[in-house]
Amino acid sequence: MKLFRKQAQTLLIVSFVMFVLPILTVQTGEAASVKNVILLIGDGMGINHITAARISGEKGAYSRLNLDTMPYTGFSINFSTSSLITDSAAAATALATGFRTDNGRLATLPDGTPVMSIMLKAKERGQSTGIVTTAKITDATPAAFLVNADSRTFERTIAQDMLNTQTDVLLGGGADAFGINPFTREPKARALINQALEDGYTYVYDRDSLLNLEITEGSKLIGLFMGGGMSFELTRFPTEPSLSEMMLKALEIVGQNPGGFFLMVEGARIDTAGHSNSPAEMIGDLLAFDQAVGLALDFARANSATLVLVTADHETGGFAVTSGTPAGEMVNYGWLSTGHTAAMVPIYAFGPGAEHFSGTLDITEIPIRLAELMGISDFPALIEDSQEQ
Ligand SMILES: [Zn+2]
Repeated sequence: MKLFRKQAQTLLIVSFVMFVLPILTVQTGEAASVKNVILLIGDGMGINHITAARISGEKGAYSRLNLDTMPYTGFSINFSTSSLITDSAAAATALATGFRTDNGRLATLPDGTPVMSIMLKAKERGQSTGIVTTAKITDATPAAFLVNADSRTFERTIAQDMLNTQTDVLLGGGADAFGINPFTREPKARALINQALEDGYTYVYDRDSLLNLEITEGSKLIGLFMGGGMSFELTRFPTEPSLSEMMLKALEIVGQNPGGFFLMVEGARIDTAGHSNSPAEMIGDLLAFDQAVGLALDFARANSATLVLVTADHETGGFAVTSGTPAGEMVNYGWLSTGHTAAMVPIYAFGPGAEHFSGTLDITEIPIRLAELMGISDFPALIEDSQEQ
């Protein structure tokens, strides 16, 4: 009976995907106009966080961020199937797969059915793929783009499954899960990272070796710059690259592929600063994220088939600017929470098809429209019995 219920549920989902979604999906009519996708996710980045970062500029409220220059903007409705307040795992699942799920799940439906990510679809078609994050690379947001798991806490399995995907670039924190010695920064014996080395990855662990790395054709790169998450931008160690530096190296690698690429870049610590209600650290990391946005826009201007999409998974902190002058003096802030909130989050788009990301969108609609613009037809998709071969 239980099995039947699961099958019936799956059937329901399948029929929803097959018959209902095509009607809901806006026909973009621009199939395959997008070759390269740079998806930047500001974790926990609400509109008030962006406002505070803008006001911190030299001209106060008259300052403009790179985000402010993006021509198309929208909102994303981001609740999960288990809560009005999504966590990063459920929101990243929605952004990566086009399916809503319960908090804590990575690219699996509430009944456990694994679902396909748009990044792995791109990989299947021969495009290059990459993850850049200031969190651990096994953290929920990056993980949902590469692995299927019933819980975001299965870190060791997530690390293993991530390596199995042969993603071209993996840059961020999280060395501990890969068996890196925290003192020497070299792999321990029988460490997981050795699998990556055998698979032909170059491994780097500090800023200098990342910046000086010569990229050759077919280079695959894993960079793990901290045992856990990376530092806030304000207190970043000289050995840690910035988000922009990681992204530029990733673009050098994935940009070599004439078939295009899908790169996900996460400003993860905006969320962490929100959880600790720390405006200075939040603004520092948001400005570092905005700098990466500016460089992504530069890349897109030089490579016309590139779509730059910026969004957030959720808002963190119930944050607001509560007083101050237009010049940006005597600015005060308020926080409602040390957790996430149900606030809609912004979407910004630049490049071919950017106009399809304006308006109020369901969070699941974001990768569905992306897939359509990339010419990926079978998306969203369940992964059916792929493990039994
Ligand atoms: Zn969070």
